[in-house]
Amino acid sequence: MSVIVEKLTKRFSAGATPAVSDVSFQAPPGAITTLLGPSGAGKSTILRAIAGLETPDEGRILIDGVDCTDLPVQKRGVGVVFQSYALFRHMTVRENIAFGLNVRRMSRGDVNARVDEMLKLIQLEELGRRTPSQLSGGQRQRVAFARALAIRPKVLLLDEPFGALDTRVREELREWLQELHELTGVTTLLVTHDQEEALEISQHVVIMSEGRVAQAGKPEDVYDSPVTPFVASFVGGTSILKGHVREGRAEVGSLVVAAPQSAREGEAVRAFVRPHDIKLARSINGNGNGGASTGRVERLKPVGGYVKVLLKLPSGDSVTVEVPRKEFDELGVVEGDSVHADVRAARVFV
Ligand code: ADP
Repeated sequence: MSVIVEKLTKRFSAGATPAVSDVSFQAPPGAITTLLGPSGAGKSTILRAIAGLETPDEGRILIDGVDCTDLPVQKRGVGVVFQSYALFRHMTVRENIAFGLNVRRMSRGDVNARVDEMLKLIQLEELGRRTPSQLSGGQRQRVAFARALAIRPKVLLLDEPFGALDTRVREELREWLQELHELTGVTTLLVTHDQEEALEISQHVVIMSEGRVAQAGKPEDVYDSPVTPFVASFVGGTSILKGHVREGRAEVGSLVVAAPQSAREGEAVRAFVRPHDIKLARSINGNGNGGASTGRVERLKPVGGYVKVLLKLPSGDSVTVEVPRKEFDELGVVEGDSVHADVRAARVFV
């Protein structure tokens, strides 16, 4: 069951910049596809248009090959989970899960059997008689998944489903979602602004910027081969350094790497450097590629197992370097120190 979005455009008021502009992509059958991008990029609008909750101005939506653009929500065979739990507060967990089945006039026996199956799937068999207020945030969200899956949707649509949960629960539920997906195999579309979540969970990523698709592909492809500076910096916290072409090579500060084939002599280029592709040292012990440069430590930010080091280079460019905690302790630098930054030239993307 694939989802195909074709040339989708949506404006919320006449003459305004479209929230979604000429967006086309395909969510492959049986996979988790993420719509990834900053807030306001148009992700939710696309998801809501697929669900039938927004009417597109232009374009088509095909689910499993069928044009659904003008079908009402309940005829599309989609299950939806939003960030806020949207469970019915006065209903028990069982009643919440049964809701869509009752709307579809399924027999009582079949409803009970399906609810039992769903409770087992979300591993909350014991909690069917509780109301949402008697559940934790993570449990409520699992019930929301069960309610969405109970109707056996062709497609599962998830709009920042873990956004309201604290970090630990969010990470647990990410793994849980992957297991759930392996069990159900349902084609899934997930909206998130969290690049780590997108890269971890999905098999296909559609990166959105200002209402348009910036890049789509496998997580490793968008990570390793970003096609625009936006994608490079949004996915993977990449730093962008200014340089120019000289004698067929790209010179970026003291770094000299291969230039793009189309580049002309003297032309300005930008080099994308990943935060873990730079090694810091107190003294030059370069790797022979001429990539070592001295920088000044502007800011240090410990983040769990590593430290983010913001370096200012002589060119005026700033780079972020991620240094594992142990290496950082051995390095022993403080803000204001000078350090040598050795870039792994083979990993630089110009
Ligand atoms: P994202 O999900 O990427 O954060 P949205 O799809 O929610 O982005 O929003 C895209 C743009 O459309 C934003 O500028 C937002 O303000 C606007 N927008 C979304 N919904 C509405 C609405 N119902 N009325 C007016 N503008 C809206």
